[in-house]
Amino acid sequence: MTMPKDLISMPKSKFLRVKCIDCGNEQIVFSNPATKVRCLVCGSTLVEPAGGRGIIKAKVLEVLE
Ligand SMILES: [Zn+2]
Repeated sequence: MTMPKDLISMPKSKFLRVKCIDCGNEQIVFSNPATKVRCLVCGSTLVEPAGGRGIIKAKVLEVLE
């Protein structure tokens, strides 16, 4: 195997800067949370957990690594 170690050990989870579709609030969220992540302003769902991965329900502005 010639794959660099970095690629193998890279975590699947990331932090994302998202914008709530309903109210426009910008918020930093975890990409695969254990529980539903809600908008701090209006309570709308931003990320839903789904079998180890997250379903992003908001507009992703930036991926923070
Ligand atoms: Zn909102």
